[in-house]
This record gives sequence, structure tokens and C-alpha cells, in this order.
Amino acid sequence: MSLSQKAESIASEFVFSDDDVRKCSKQFIFELDKGLKSVVPTVCQIPTYVTKVARGTEKGVSLAVDLGGTNLRVCSVELNGDTTLTAKHAKKVIPPGIMTAATGAELFHLIAHEIDQFLQLHHRDALEKLRQSKDVLPLGFTFSYPAYQTSINSGILLRWTKGFVIPDVVNKDVCQLLQVAIDEFNLPVEVTALVNDALGALMFRTYTLPLSQTRTSVGAIFGTGTNGVYLEKLSNITKSLGNHDDSTGEMFISCEWGSFDNGLLVQPNTTYDVKVDQISMNPGNQMFEKRVSGMFQGELLRVVLNELYADPDAGLFRGVQWNDPAQGEGPAPFFTPWAIDTSLLSMAAADNAQELPALSKALVETLRISADHVSADDVRAVKTIADAIGKRAARLAGMAIASVLIKGGRMTVDRNLLPVTGIVENPSDVEGVDIAVDGSVVELYPGFERYMREAWSVIDDIGPAGERMIKMGIAKDGSSIGAAIIALIAQMDVRHIQ
Ligand code: ADP
Ligand code: MG
Repeated sequence: MSLSQKAESIASEFVFSDDDVRKCSKQFIFELDKGLKSVVPTVCQIPTYVTKVARGTEKGVSLAVDLGGTNLRVCSVELNGDTTLTAKHAKKVIPPGIMTAATGAELFHLIAHEIDQFLQLHHRDALEKLRQSKDVLPLGFTFSYPAYQTSINSGILLRWTKGFVIPDVVNKDVCQLLQVAIDEFNLPVEVTALVNDALGALMFRTYTLPLSQTRTSVGAIFGTGTNGVYLEKLSNITKSLGNHDDSTGEMFISCEWGSFDNGLLVQPNTTYDVKVDQISMNPGNQMFEKRVSGMFQGELLRVVLNELYADPDAGLFRGVQWNDPAQGEGPAPFFTPWAIDTSLLSMAAADNAQELPALSKALVETLRISADHVSADDVRAVKTIADAIGKRAARLAGMAIASVLIKGGRMTVDRNLLPVTGIVENPSDVEGVDIAVDGSVVELYPGFERYMREAWSVIDDIGPAGERMIKMGIAKDGSSIGAAIIALIAQMDVRHIQ
């Protein structure tokens, strides 16, 4: 078999067919339902204690700190009460040592330090005023790891995911740990909400849409990790809930869908998936995330290419010198776990020119090899495999979103409202369905939305007509801004009650 035939054959292992989409979605809905009844299923359906979307009329200033899997972001938001806002941001890459710090105190000290620096830089005057008036700024903590909430401002960490492993934080209330660290800096800041990033994205989008047009009921993240939230009827949540507002009869639920089908009953599973799982921090867990999110797609590509390279008949990168001194210091990225970023897959998907010049250049730079050893066939093989991994991820992502839309009862709208042609010029004119998404993968991978839409249209309860009714908006940086919005609303609610 030639290199291109071998690459095609591997790519075919990543095909996630229409039948697979339908089968997976059925199981997904089953697990969502199970999670509403019991606290220990794989999709653990965490109640968020947020029971309504933002109206767009909220006014005030608040903060958020967002601990993602790659970045730590701090932001302040001033809501103008008319769907507009002003936000200030700071972002830093989480130092790798922090993800595996000996104690949680180190992590929370770093976060509080970043908040302190941010306030000194952007809000020095406001800090003084708050101290004099003995008032506090509300802060939303965007914490994108499974934490079981019993109220809006507390959450017990169930387990770390993505690259984090700091054992002494597990089973502790992460809001309290953050508050203690903030208090050590003597800051007039109160953690009023624990928010996962998907809910943050959704709240941001709902604030910016006029209430009359807001039909957003699903938020989803495709970044380092993946997760989704959706609006569920309180009457369907039969496991125990702490004190909550029941005036709307609904509550946002965080699915924690990264751990969907950990038992691999219905998910695609190649030998490459098995290898990536084995070298991950949490083998056997987050099996859906390991097929979909940014942390794992680049690694999947690396593992496949390593196997191809080890096959002398394939002839990938023939004659390459991995330790070419001209290519810089350190171990060869090709043999280093996690050294290939998912952005390389985006590069592959974006390059549709005959000779793949952009991908070719990106490969040489990423792998630190000489361009002389990268043939046209090599680059074509990389593209074939990268595209297959990216397409499977996006179709799985689409399957997850479709499933929560169906579970939340959003796809039972009257199809007769659609124009006869079935083409909706302006989705907000009809009873549409709206979702908010955030994260580098969905934002930057070319075709991610198109592949998700393909998956939606083959699911019976959605179909092509339903697919056209779904509007998706990227809530850029929404996971932080939305958390600040939730924190402000939570503070207003508490003050209203007092
Ligand atoms: P976080 O998860 O910390 O909130 P992001 O949403 O920015 O951060 O997601 C970071 C993840 O996105 C990383 O796993 C990275 O590999 C991936 N990523 C970054 N750039 C791109 C890109 N251009 N295309 C696809 N994935 C990307
Ligand atoms: Mg994020």
C-alpha cells in the first residue's frame, strides 16, 4: 500500500457515520435522563442554581476569573443596562507546574494574585471607594471542572480533568478556597457565583440579545475541554437540590458531557484513541472529551503519525533527521506527547491549495524538521488524517448539542411556522432555537459548525428543517464575561432578598 492509501485507510477508521450519530444521540439522551435522577452517573448533570437568562437590562460592575485548561483569564465588566457592556481583560497561560502543584493553596494564591494585579492596574480608584464604603465587588468564578453545586456560590470538586491533578482540592469547596486566597490579599471582592464556562457563554449571549429575541437555551464549550449546559424543567430533576429559586420552573444543568459513555458502548474507538487514553492523566475517564476537545485532537494526530512513521513501507518523512541541530534544542516534538497543538489540524483544514503550502510550512515549524524531508505525499497524508480527526470531533460535538436540544424539548417547535421552502432568511423571525458556544476549537477550526450541522440534520428529531432553525452564536470570551454577569445578578438577588 502506498502512503496515501495507508492514510486513507486510517482516516476511514475515524469515520463517524450518520447511523453512529443517531445511535450515539439516543444513548446520550438516555445518560442525560439518568443523570437527573442520580448523583453518580458518568454524565453527572450538575444543577447550576441559575434559573433564568440575562435580560439585557442588568446594570453594574463585576469581576470574573476563568480557570480554563490552558489559560487563566481575569476580566471586569460594566453592564450598561441596554444589552451593551464594557469589558477589560487580562490573560495568561497557566504555568504547567501549577496544574500539578503540590497543594491547592499554590493554585488559589496564584489566582488571587492575578486578581490583585488586575485590580491594581485597571480599577485602583474603584478599589479605594469600595474600601471606604465597605462594599464589595461581586466575582464569578469560571471553573470548568466537575464541581457539585449545592448553591450558586459553592461547589465541591468531584475530580480534576484536562491537565490538572492537585489531589488536596478534590472534595473541597473551590469557592471557599478562592475566597480565602482573595482575603489574604485584603481585596474587597466576594465570590458570589461559581459558573462553568458553558453557562458563562450562554449568559453573555443572552445579555447581548434583546429579551424579545432571546431563545438561547443551550451553551457549549469546545476549547481545551468540552461541556454543555441546557435549560431543564425542575420537575424532571428528581435528585436532591439545595435551596433554589423555583419561580421559573426551570434550571440550567451542566451536563459534564466530557465523560459521556466512558464505557465506550457507542462511541467510536480506534487503537489511536486507546493509546491517547493510556498516556493521559485520567485513563478511562473523560472519554468523550478525548475525542472532541482541543487538548486531545493534536495528540491523536501525533500518535497516528508516529505509527505511520514506524511502518517502513509507508515511508512517511523518509530520511528525516529528528535531532537536526539546525532545528533547535530539546527533544523532537514528534516523539513528545502533547507536543502537537490542535491548531495544526485547523491549519490542515484551512489549506486547500494544490500543494498544501501553508500546512507544509506549519509541519516543518511544528516538528522542527528540514523542509527537504517533507514530501508532497507526506503533507497530503497528514492532511487526510488531520481532517478525519477534526471531522469526527465536530460530528461528535454536533451529536452532543443535538441531544441536549432534544432533551430540553427545544426541537418540538411547530414546523408549520417555517416558510414552505424551509429556508429561514432570518432565524429570529420564527420560533428559532439558539445556542451560544465558546472555545478556540469551535471558534477557529474551519468547518466545525458545518460538520455539526451535518450531524444535526441526520438526527430524526431535528432533520434538515430543524437544522436550519438552529442559530449558533460564538460568545467570544463569553465564559468569563458571562460569569461576571451571573455574579452581578447573584449579588442583586441576595440584596433583594435581604
Ligand atoms: P481554555 O480551554 O483554557 O478556555 P481555549 O478555549 O483557548 O482555552 O482552548 C484552548 C485549546 O484550543 C487548546 O487545546 C488548543 O490546542 C486549542 N486551539 C488553540 N488554537 C486552535 C486553533 N487555531 N484551532 C483549533 N484548536 C485550537
Ligand atoms: Mg475556556
